[in-house]
Amino acid sequence: MKETGENQSTLNVKKGIVQPPSVNPDILVKIKKARKRSYSEDDYVKGIIDGNRTILSQAITLLESSNHDHFRKAQHVIERCLPYSGKSVRIGITGVPGAGKSTFIESFGTLLTGKGRKIAVLAIDPSSTNTHGSILGDKTRMERLSTEPNAFIRPSPSTGALGGVARKTRETIILCEAAGFDTVIVETVGVGQSETAVSSMVDFFLLLMIAGAGDELQGIKRGIMEMADLVAINKADGKNRPMAEQAAVMFSNALHLFPPSASGWIPKVMTCSAIENRSINEVWRLVTEYVTLTKASGYFELRRREQAIIRMHDTIAGYLKNSFYNNEEINKLRPEIETKLHEGTITSYKAAWKLLNKYFSK
Ligand code: GDP
Repeated sequence: MKETGENQSTLNVKKGIVQPPSVNPDILVKIKKARKRSYSEDDYVKGIIDGNRTILSQAITLLESSNHDHFRKAQHVIERCLPYSGKSVRIGITGVPGAGKSTFIESFGTLLTGKGRKIAVLAIDPSSTNTHGSILGDKTRMERLSTEPNAFIRPSPSTGALGGVARKTRETIILCEAAGFDTVIVETVGVGQSETAVSSMVDFFLLLMIAGAGDELQGIKRGIMEMADLVAINKADGKNRPMAEQAAVMFSNALHLFPPSASGWIPKVMTCSAIENRSINEVWRLVTEYVTLTKASGYFELRRREQAIIRMHDTIAGYLKNSFYNNEEINKLRPEIETKLHEGTITSYKAAWKLLNKYFSK
């Protein structure tokens, strides 16, 4: 066959066969539609109660939104989900970065899903306000657990003040419980800011420590120790094990100095290895022992009611804040006042009152 000058060139790009698209375009259209779809309040409630994880996720996104309408809608959904909530065991887990929280939760969570439990893992990240980072944002964390059909992992909301983040987490617990999750784990970094918030929303508080770092190094304040129902010294494996055992004795002695807790439960100290899956079952045994004891004494219910009061105050504060910052008049006046603050021609106290007066006189 005689070749033309054109296709003798090595620079000529052969047309080849047109490749079919790698993703079915019909599916792409469907995904786009699903993304755009906005659910009604009824859709949300029904979807959550049916255990639909996509709708659960979207409802959480709704309650994390700072948009006033979303906020209101989310509040109605939460209100309607409340009767279906409350039946889980809520466990708070704290520890400094590197203590092994995610490794532990991976191991603990997998153990529990193996027992047929449904686990939701949520996070409160006090650093997220400044850095927009998230302790659960790192995709490599809890890889195994995240593929479990009975586990739901939700990263910390990445914006908002700590109080706001705590409120959102509290509301997320309600939605997860209504969706059928019977074990809720709330993770936080033990740096002394968010533990109180976590302890006000969980039944059981686990402090994960590592040996070989002084108390100060681990940032663990006395107050946090007092909140703990269980101190687990993690990484008790290999040559680290004797040190972990020693640390356990030290913590045990320290805990004895604290006044007895209102629950009647004596805080326990143990060692474990999240990586080797050692004593992880023991942690669960202690959690169930605690739940049995406090349910029998009535403390479990009492504490939940006290937490409901905190939740009410949180809701009021959240609502007022949202309503304030979404108010048109306030948003008109704010830039002018902020400029004055920048220039130093007004005190912050006066500035606040100017805005508040405007808001309440409307
Ligand atoms: P987090 O920041 O508290 O979530 O800690 P990670 O779970 O990310 O763990 C920090 C590091 O400690 C990782 O390199 C883990 O592999 C390691 N680690 C976690 N648990 C254990 C354990 O039980 N034993 C040992 N030897 N290393 C562990």
